[in-house]
Amino acid sequence: MGIINVLSNDLINKIAAGEVVERPASVVKELVENSIDASATEITVKINKGGLELIEVIDNGSGMDSSDAELAFVQHATSKINKEEDLNKILSMGFRGEALASIASVSEAKIHTYDGKSEPILASQENSSIKISSGSGRKQGTTVTVRNIFIKIPARRKFLKSESTEYRHIQDMLINLALSNPLIAFTLVKDGKESFKYGKTKQLEDRITQIFPQVENKLIKIIYDSPDLKLSGFIGHPSTSRRDRTQQYIFINGRPIKDHLISKAVKEGYRTSLMNDKHPIFFINININPELVDVNIHPRKQEVKFSNSGIIFQAAKNATSKALEIELQSNLNKSFTGPSSTTM
Ligand code: ADP
Ligand code: MG
Repeated sequence: MGIINVLSNDLINKIAAGEVVERPASVVKELVENSIDASATEITVKINKGGLELIEVIDNGSGMDSSDAELAFVQHATSKINKEEDLNKILSMGFRGEALASIASVSEAKIHTYDGKSEPILASQENSSIKISSGSGRKQGTTVTVRNIFIKIPARRKFLKSESTEYRHIQDMLINLALSNPLIAFTLVKDGKESFKYGKTKQLEDRITQIFPQVENKLIKIIYDSPDLKLSGFIGHPSTSRRDRTQQYIFINGRPIKDHLISKAVKEGYRTSLMNDKHPIFFINININPELVDVNIHPRKQEVKFSNSGIIFQAAKNATSKALEIELQSNLNKSFTGPSSTTM
């Protein structure tokens, strides 16, 4: 007898879950991204006990019919790609078709959904089989309920931090998603109490000031435009700079990412208007030809790989310094024309 086993699907899902589901915030990310992909315009996230007891995401998106609701829990089941070429032009948030399968393998997960056409459906995964029943009382959209994350895997649960730390990660995650989707309304409910509600806005600037009212009137617009790369958004006036990098937000084709290089490029763009130990705040959208960026390198898709990072570095740096120059110049002009025009 050889010693090699083919792993069961359940075990494969649990292993994949280790990559996708690091903590409650990663569940929130996957579920909210699914809601965004389903064209939802209103998303509510309910969290109990830092997400350890309950994570629920309610949307008013497309909903699913019963066959899709059943497939949704299956590993590598996705409505977003179906052939290899699709990988080169991914515009949806998800595409691996493994989030729901992974989440269900490490928690008690349920889907309540209605596509507005067939009939409302309740789908749940029990002992690695999927149970479908009729689910009344659902308007069009989807509610995914995830209870007791990692309860079946005590070794993983042990690595989670305190409820308040896990909650903070969820809040950060949702703020990122709210910033990259200003047209969508987001509500966060913590242990039964509303923690924030950001109504739909028309543009990024309004969403930024909903979340960070203290930077209102202190945002400077930046822009860079070339055929393959468009960069737009806001940097903070130098007076808004911070000792940490917590208010630095980068979105690539609508996807929140972390990228040290872009962060460094923006800082360089401020030149001498920032003290060395200070970090600018910024909110930058980068729209890039999907063929020039690989979102597949990171299982949670938080980092991306650019085929030419030099171009992006220069774009971020130049757009920043140009925007600041214009701002400083217009402030100078104001201070020259201001007093003289009133005294004359
Ligand atoms: P992926 O997002 O990579 O396709 P998921 O496991 O996250 O994989 O979801 C599987 C499928 O379930 C999606 O492709 C989509 O068709 C469906 N789905 C998941 N969540 C929702 C939702 N909130 N609304 C409508 N459809 C959904
Ligand atoms: Mg998904």
